[in-house]
Amino acid sequence: MSADVDVVVVGAGAAGIAAARRLTEVGLSLAVIEAGDRVGGRAWTIRHEGLPIDLGCGWLHSAERNPWTALAPDLGFTIDRTLPPWGRQFRNLGFPASDQMAARAAFASFEQRLRQAPAGSDRAADLLEEGGTWNPYLEAVSSYINGTDLKSLSIRDYLAFADADTGVNWRLIEGYGALIARAAAGLPISLGMPVSAIEADQSRLAIVTGSGTIRAGAAIITVSTDVLASGAIRLPAALGDHVEAASRLPLGLADKVVFAIDRPDELEPDTQVLGNPHSAKTGSYHLRPFGRPLIEGFICGAAARELEAGEDMVAFAQDELAGLFGTGIRRRLKPVAQTRWAKSPFIRGSYSHALPGCTDARAILASPWDERIFFAGEACSTQDFSTAHGAYQTGLDAAEAVLSSHHSTRLGGPARRDG
Ligand SMILES: Cc1cc2nc3c(=O)[nH]c(=O)nc-3n(C[C@H](O)[C@H](O)[C@H](O)COP(=O)(O)OP(=O)(O)OC[C@H]3O[C@@H](n4cnc5c(N)ncnc54)[C@H](O)[C@@H]3O)c2cc1C
Repeated sequence: MSADVDVVVVGAGAAGIAAARRLTEVGLSLAVIEAGDRVGGRAWTIRHEGLPIDLGCGWLHSAERNPWTALAPDLGFTIDRTLPPWGRQFRNLGFPASDQMAARAAFASFEQRLRQAPAGSDRAADLLEEGGTWNPYLEAVSSYINGTDLKSLSIRDYLAFADADTGVNWRLIEGYGALIARAAAGLPISLGMPVSAIEADQSRLAIVTGSGTIRAGAAIITVSTDVLASGAIRLPAALGDHVEAASRLPLGLADKVVFAIDRPDELEPDTQVLGNPHSAKTGSYHLRPFGRPLIEGFICGAAARELEAGEDMVAFAQDELAGLFGTGIRRRLKPVAQTRWAKSPFIRGSYSHALPGCTDARAILASPWDERIFFAGEACSTQDFSTAHGAYQTGLDAAEAVLSSHHSTRLGGPARRDG
């Protein structure tokens, strides 16, 4: 493949798709280069017996200001406004109501301490009470929200997200991943084509892939921070600060393990159980999402890393569910899907968090270079990072930046259509 276009977008996840939609709207010539064999990246809906299952993002966080919420009806998708079951234990199994109240209170007071953290302190684990009864619970909750443990978590970064989150969470009946894939329809996307280098000469960029080199006036790079930090894409030496910033915004890990359940009517729709409220390494299980005969386990942080590294995630989840419901449930569970996001070569994790003292890395990562190379992706958002709507907005921002800084100068390649 060899081509010459105005803009190359590297990666067809939520950010790349948002950027490409905007650039197409104004008639620029474009190539979207995706390493994987499907669009969506960390947004991925599969189907089991006709039922959509989101293996990546599932919740429209900050739903009433989420741009995907606004797009959904136009693309033929249906929004479900059922409240999330988080924080309430189905039938108080293994987690008495009084303990649930105590655990929630411990989380609220931990967040309060984070807000009052002294200026020099930015490591969330430092604000745990020594020997606190609910510390393992706080670690488990952190693993779900941040994909990581509290010792690796920047307080300022965490609060920037918490303060921006509106707490309104909706879903899509047909799947979040399916919506994002639908938004990519008609875009000039090449699949299965990892970019291995981006080179810059005086006037043009060369985007190098295994199938040829594409020349362009500008590029928008949307790959995850762990991909960027790995050096999988060789970049001009001047982008060293960006790569370093990416390494200070590592991906946490969140995995899903999904079961079909026999005799589903014995479980109330859209309820939840936490596997073990006294362990940091425990799953959270959504029972019968949308009333479907499914259980969706969410296993994150250190537990997910260990389970991806060798142990059996399905067996771990079955054991936790059997511990709560009795061993009879084992016969009723049929595994239908399991993710290994850390092992996914073009993703390498789930969502970014800033290491302590590194919250400034998001702005560094998001800054353009030489008005030619632009960055987007969830990690570039200073408040909505780790989400699909944050990714969307950064893609749009990068597209606008391309349009304003390149309008009359460097986009002058042969494929330019706007004269
Ligand atoms: C289990 C899980 C649950 C989640 N839950 C939610 C949720 O409920 N709500 C929410 O809002 N968010 C959630 N998220 C996070 C959300 O999915 C991501 O933040 C978002 O999808 C990231 O989009 P992106 O465009 O920044 O990156 P990506 O989706 O990672 O897109 C980058 C693309 O670049 C491609 N790529 C990589 N290397 C190359 C290369 N060398 N050349 C070309 N292409 C390359 C990748 O294949 C990928 O398609 C969840 C994520 C996971 C994993």
